[in-house]
Amino acid sequence: MEKRPGVFLDRDGTINEDFGYVVDPRRLVLLPKAAEGIKLLGEFGVPIVVVSNQSAVGRGYCTEEDVEEVNRALASLLKERGAKVDAFYYCPHHPEARVPAYRVACPFRKPEPGMVLRAASEHGIDPRKSYVVGDMHSDIKLGRRVKARTVLVLTGHGEETLEMVKRKEAPRPSFVAKDLVEAAWWVLEDMDRRGLI
Ligand SMILES: [Mg+2]
Ligand SMILES: [Zn+2]
Repeated sequence: MEKRPGVFLDRDGTINEDFGYVVDPRRLVLLPKAAEGIKLLGEFGVPIVVVSNQSAVGRGYCTEEDVEEVNRALASLLKERGAKVDAFYYCPHHPEARVPAYRVACPFRKPEPGMVLRAASEHGIDPRKSYVVGDMHSDIKLGRRVKARTVLVLTGHGEETLEMVKRKEAPRPSFVAKDLVEAAWWVLEDMDRRGLI
């Protein structure tokens, strides 16, 4: 079967507010346009996969269970607003993690392509027909590495990342969007141009 296009979304700073390490589900706050953007992509049948670096685990600020609890809480906040994420992937590792078990240069930690490649193979998605959306340098780098198109959102650390792009310290994204709704509309329009939807 021919592989489908998909959207790989960063989590913190892209879907929910990024106030350092997001480890407590009770403090989870959706960004204003996040649910609307995800809902829109869903209405066009685009699979949505969240790919998130969670080095907070390796740094000893929380456990993998905590990350999964935050992901469940996020899924339920989105669901209340009619938006659905198809799958969540995260990498708990960091090369300088305080917890020895997590101290590794992991091939899944963004901008390494591991999470996207695994998610793509598990969900029948072709990364080259896909989009990576996020607020960080590492999101854009990841997207380019898997030959996806990239959207920088100006939420979270997006403004800082845009400054890095202008100074040529970060790769240039395919598109810059002020929030997830604008990102979703661009992705849909671009998919349409490419004959993907
Ligand atoms: Mg982020
Ligand atoms: Zn990892």
